[in-house]
Amino acid sequence: MSRRILIAGNWKMNKTVGEAMPLLEGLKAGVNAATAAEVVVCPPFTTLAAAAEACAGTPIQVGAQNVHWAESGAFTAEISAAMLREIPVSHVIVGHSERRQYFAETDDTVNRRLTAAIAAGLTPIVCIGETLDERDAGETESVVTRQLEGALAGLSAAQSANLIIAYEPVWAIGTGRTATPEQAQEIHALIRNLLRQRYASLADDLRILYGGSMKPANAAELLRQPDIDGGLIGGASLKADDFLAILSCA
Ligand code: PEP
Repeated sequence: MSRRILIAGNWKMNKTVGEAMPLLEGLKAGVNAATAAEVVVCPPFTTLAAAAEACAGTPIQVGAQNVHWAESGAFTAEISAAMLREIPVSHVIVGHSERRQYFAETDDTVNRRLTAAIAAGLTPIVCIGETLDERDAGETESVVTRQLEGALAGLSAAQSANLIIAYEPVWAIGTGRTATPEQAQEIHALIRNLLRQRYASLADDLRILYGGSMKPANAAELLRQPDIDGGLIGGASLKADDFLAILSCA
């Protein structure tokens, strides 16, 4: 079992093409073949092609923030997996809590998007995590279990071989309030056990990222936990220095 640390930046609805270029130049200056961790940046759709071109031939991989399940059709404003592959992007975030919270994403639509991403050969980063109310009500385990089982419904071990899970407690996203390494490790271990029940030994190879106010000051301690295999970084991925500082902890 060896899981390479993955540090992924979720830029959300930030960075026009013009704004992205200096950030990518900063990242390219700090990331090279000797960088221990795998690096992915996920710009908004309109910046993907320029980012893919800017990162071609570098170790920086480019991912999208969402994908639709249909191959094509009357789905205004949606983007298909084939469209993403053509850019090309390698990764795609699925089921981010902001999609669930503001855009009616459900476990079922997450499952459909995930299935389409895998079929197209994209590497999915599937986000799961509880709200503060759910944590306070003692429901963290049941929520995370339901979201994981819902996302993976119908997917075989072979289909899930490149799956990446991101545990993102909603109360820690963009709030500056990070889960303690112990809180995060507890849920990462739970997720790994659930993966083991579904996929047996494959579970030891699948990466589980932590997301939620990860920053240079707390990354090292989080990444030291045995079941934390990297980070999905929001705010701190928008500044090259911060993102590179997190990378250096890996
Ligand atoms: C995220 O939105 O995936 C995230 C982890 O955001 P932040 O790092 O800003 O909390």
